Amino acid sequence: MAKEAAKKKSKGRWSLYQVSGNKLERKNNSCPKCGQGTFMAKHANRWYCGQCRYVEMFSK
Ligand SMILES: [Zn+2]
Repeated sequence: MAKEAAKKKSKGRWSLYQVSGNKLERKNNSCPKCGQGTFMAKHANRWYCGQCRYVEMFSK
């Protein structure tokens, strides 16, 4: 049971990754201020870091 719970708990974080073959690719940008471990949330025209409030605009 404990094993199942741990698996479920980590699922949210792992959804940020995409596994291609045996390589792990990040789907989200990581924050340049907080480092590789911190992901930024994607909004309509910008990336937003919930940790340090850093915002990176982008245009397509
Ligand atoms: Zn940050």
